[in-house]
Amino acid sequence: SCAALNLIAVECHAGPDARPLSRRCGLPDDAFVHEGQITKRDVRAASLSRLAPLPGELLWDVGAGSGSIGIEWMRAETGCRAIAIEPDAARRDLIDRNRKRLGVPELQIVAGRAPDALQDLPTPDAVFIGGGLTADGVAERCWEALKPGGRLVANAVTLQSEAFLVALRARIGGELTRLSVSHATPLGRFDGWRTAMPVTILAAVK
Ligand code: SAH
Repeated sequence: SCAALNLIAVECHAGPDARPLSRRCGLPDDAFVHEGQITKRDVRAASLSRLAPLPGELLWDVGAGSGSIGIEWMRAETGCRAIAIEPDAARRDLIDRNRKRLGVPELQIVAGRAPDALQDLPTPDAVFIGGGLTADGVAERCWEALKPGGRLVANAVTLQSEAFLVALRARIGGELTRLSVSHATPLGRFDGWRTAMPVTILAAVK
C-alpha cells in the first residue's frame, strides 16, 4: 500500500530530517545512493511518463546503474515488477541498497550484459534502455521482446548514441524528444543557470 511504501522510506531515511517520499515519479536524485551516473530527476520523470506504468506490469531496466528507473516504476503503481540488468558489480550493489531504502526489495537484479543477459527473461510491458544501447542487437532484442502495445524508451547523451536513436526510429518509429535542463547555481554574489548535457529520449509504442 501507499502507506506501507512511505513507511519503509521514512524508516530508511531515519533521522531528524526523515520525510516520507512521494510515489510520484521524479524523486530527488539524493533519494538514491549513486555515483553521479544516475538518470537525473527531470529526465527520469520524463522517461517514466513515457514508460507509462500500469498496475501489475513488468519493466526491463537495461543498464540499470543505480536502479532509479526500475525502482520508480515499481513505486508508481500497485503490483508493478521490474528487472534491473546491470553488468557492473559495484552498481548492482547500489541497486540492492536502493531497492531496500525505497521500499521495493522485490526488484529483481540480473548480472550481465545485454543482449545476452536478456535471453531468458519474461516478456516485458515496457523496456528502458539507459546503457548498452549501441551494443549489437540490444535495441532489436528489446523491441522484439515487447508485448503489442509495449513501450520502448531509450536515453542518449553522446552524439553517437543519439545518431543510433535516429536510425532506430527509422526502423521502429516513435518520437524523439531532447531535454536540456538548467539549474540555478551560485555565481559570485548572485546566481546563474548551469545547463546539464542535453539528453535525447526515443519513445516508441509497439
Ligand atoms: N538509469 C541509470 C543510469 C544508467 S548508466 C540510473 O538511473 O542509475 C548506464 C549503465 O549501463 C551503466 O551502469 C553500465 O554499466 C550499463 N551498461 C553498459 N553497457 C551495458 C550492456 N551492454 N548491458 C547492460 N548494461 C550495460
